[in-house]
Amino acid sequence: MSDDGIPLSSDIASTATLKLASLHTLDPFYTPLEERFERITRLARRALHVPVAAITIVKDGRQWFKSVRGWQVTELEVSKSLCSEVIKTGEQIIVNDTLDDLYLMSNPLVCNDPKFRFYAGVAIKDSTGDTIGTFCVMDVKPRETDDQFGTALADLGHMAQSELFASELNNAQSALITKLGESRRQAMFDSLTRLWNRRGGMDLLNAAVHECAKFDHTLGLCLADIDFFKKVNDQFGHPVGDQVLRKVASEIVATVRPQDVVCRYGGEEFMIILRDVDARACFAVANRICANISQMPIRTRQQDVPMTISIGIAMRDKGDDVSMEQLIAKADKALYISKKKGRNCVSFAQD
Ligand code: GH3
Ligand code: MG
Ligand code: MG
Repeated sequence: MSDDGIPLSSDIASTATLKLASLHTLDPFYTPLEERFERITRLARRALHVPVAAITIVKDGRQWFKSVRGWQVTELEVSKSLCSEVIKTGEQIIVNDTLDDLYLMSNPLVCNDPKFRFYAGVAIKDSTGDTIGTFCVMDVKPRETDDQFGTALADLGHMAQSELFASELNNAQSALITKLGESRRQAMFDSLTRLWNRRGGMDLLNAAVHECAKFDHTLGLCLADIDFFKKVNDQFGHPVGDQVLRKVASEIVATVRPQDVVCRYGGEEFMIILRDVDARACFAVANRICANISQMPIRTRQQDVPMTISIGIAMRDKGDDVSMEQLIAKADKALYISKKKGRNCVSFAQD
């Protein structure tokens, strides 16, 4: 018996039902970056020494890349995916050289860029045993693998599967994800950074401001702008600039809580919505973002180029009557103050 006197077996049954329900209601197509998945693909690259690792979900003949590192892709047709055999069979597949593999040798991802030569994947299954996605790693060079590689691949696949069943995104974002259809979410999604775009961010801020007014909760709004970003483009080119934008997005997501909303507000500007925080906590989070980004310089063959970001904060304190537009205007002013102060710092809006 559990503590509240309900037989344990019924607890387990209801938990299983809930988990199943949560996966079926959570539709991962066009959902923003989540650190809990990023962590797994990051770990996979290091542990398996592969340049590309991905967690994917399959639906209606399409494959959505919930997390992918080392390759810029968001969606593929399953028929064109390297994972189609894993999806069909539900078995682990390791192809040491794709050019020796009957199924993969003519795949466009093998014949054309990125010219993958190594593929390994396992199925992600739901509680009924149906394949709902894959965990996979790729390389542009052929590779030899041992038993340990296969075991590590299966372990990482299980980790991804467990995370998919955990309903950590139980907040305003998941409400929005469920409420909006996939096509509307697609319009709110920024495929470069895999964050909400400005439109998505504005929708979520609007909802957050209304809810805070209704329940008199606090809310912190941060606007962050990368310092001297034009120089990055000028010095290293636009593709490197894009890569920096993706890294900054991922670093911000890794720094805030899972329920916090991060959106790409403009070219190299980000908006972060922190619910139920006071000014002190919000300041601490913003400072952590600045510190973390300043510790991830752009590495080039010649040198490490430092990167920094400036942040402005506007607060909705208890009892305040403030609109979304007023909050944004205040955060924007605060950001301007940070830039004037010399950048790489955090400021509040002065009334
Ligand atoms: P500061 O904010 O510190 O005042 O200087 P800045 O150099 O960052 O100034 P500004 O905001 O004017 O420059 C933003 C630059 O961001 C200009 C534009 O070329 C670049 N940018 C905007 N969107 C993208 C994008 O999607 N990719 C890349 N690579 N660059 C972008
Ligand atoms: Mg700017
Ligand atoms: Mg800038």
